[in-house]
Amino acid sequence: MVSVRMIPGVNVIIDREKKKIVEKLQSGNKKNSWRTELPSVGLGRRVIEKMEDDKKNDVNWRGRCSGTVYINGSEVDGHFSLINEACSMFAHTNPLHQDVFKSVAQYEREVVAMTASMLGSKEKASGGQICGNMTSGGTESILLAVKSSRDYMKARKSITKPEIIMSESAHSAYDKAAQYFNIIIRRAPVNKEFKADLKSIQRLINKNTILIIGSAPGFPHGIIDPIKELGELASSYDICFHVDLCLGGFVLPFARKLGYPIAPFDFSVKGVTSISADVHKYGLGPKGTSVVLYRNHEIRKHQFVAVTEWTGGLYVSPTISGSRSGGMIAGAWAAMMSTGLEGYLENTRVIMEVSKKIENGIKEIPELFVIGRPDMTIVAFGSNGVNIFEVNDVMTTKGWHLNALQRPNSIHICVTLQHASVVDDFLNDLSESLKMVKKNPGPIKGGMAPMYGAAGKMPDRGIVGDLLVEFMDNSC
Ligand SMILES: *Cc1c(COP(=O)(O)O)cnc(C)c1O
Repeated sequence: MVSVRMIPGVNVIIDREKKKIVEKLQSGNKKNSWRTELPSVGLGRRVIEKMEDDKKNDVNWRGRCSGTVYINGSEVDGHFSLINEACSMFAHTNPLHQDVFKSVAQYEREVVAMTASMLGSKEKASGGQICGNMTSGGTESILLAVKSSRDYMKARKSITKPEIIMSESAHSAYDKAAQYFNIIIRRAPVNKEFKADLKSIQRLINKNTILIIGSAPGFPHGIIDPIKELGELASSYDICFHVDLCLGGFVLPFARKLGYPIAPFDFSVKGVTSISADVHKYGLGPKGTSVVLYRNHEIRKHQFVAVTEWTGGLYVSPTISGSRSGGMIAGAWAAMMSTGLEGYLENTRVIMEVSKKIENGIKEIPELFVIGRPDMTIVAFGSNGVNIFEVNDVMTTKGWHLNALQRPNSIHICVTLQHASVVDDFLNDLSESLKMVKKNPGPIKGGMAPMYGAAGKMPDRGIVGDLLVEFMDNSC
């Protein structure tokens, strides 16, 4: 029997149905044990069998995860194994040694050039000098763009106490960059439409400002910031402007071609100095692939590290890693080449339609509201009257893995190809979960909602501390 402890003060009768949910949530909280020594005799090939077994205990990510795995989960189109083949073919190559691995170097150039072309490099307004690199993911692309902007502004304007301005919806990777690179972040509130608010951002500009961030779209609500206006603002103050296209880079260019009304977001916009676009999201590449792009080499050159005095010889490295696996580059190249323009257009058509269906379905549920007007394939929603995080917990027991958001309290689904066949299930499960919470309000022990507090707030520092300890609990 699983013991069910209720939060003190919450006086609710647990009905049988809810008890089942509690048990299901708690069963996932068992502590794992793990090996701390090498096996004295290696397992050889048998290790693969063991890994096949281990994998069976993971959550089934096919079909019901928000974002996470963007590739179609079924093997219907063979994309999955195709990417695996491409990766393994080049897994042991190292593009740090360009002279040895010519094919991988060529793939990286082409992934960067093809992505740049999707994002305006062939437009006259781009200036015709767009350049960039492949990185290990959105975060590394962002870290590099921030680092390059910092050093570019230091060289040009002698700014030594750099500050970044962004709205509260911008990704926390910028906070990470600021912590790593000793930069101050100033967050501006969003406007009523949940977009970056120009006036609030302008108010925060001072002589130390190096960079403004705009998202197309932002991760929380899938809403595109006013990129054109932010670009004008940044260029009038002569500061850098990064557009976060981590999520939108492999959707917006195609959605625009399909006729969706998409506001400007790329290098054709004046003032944009850098862009990040993730191949490992809607580009359908393997995890560990993204592209960072710059307006010109004058900015990008601040990304590189070159050491000339080392006894190890001349060392030049473009990105954060030294040695890298060419497997990721090959996987990204294979994803883009095998999918092609027509493939991306068709994928985009599907996920845009699924998203609209989800958005409209949620709007029909009286207790729920959609946040702002989603521009793309993320639908965020909250509730008047019902604790949305409790709804999320019930959804979890039905196999869904959605993202919890705050200000306002809400959850979102980032729609992928995997959702095309389960839209109706999603909407049905959502209404059922909502009904269940209405009938039986109160947090579920073992669920996430209690972490957000009775008022439905995100964890305070103390709980974050506990979470970090849990995260780092791989001590030996
Ligand atoms: C995913 C994402 C990032 C960070 O990318 P990672 O690949 O997780 O490092 C940054 N910005 C936005 C808008 C994103 O969606």
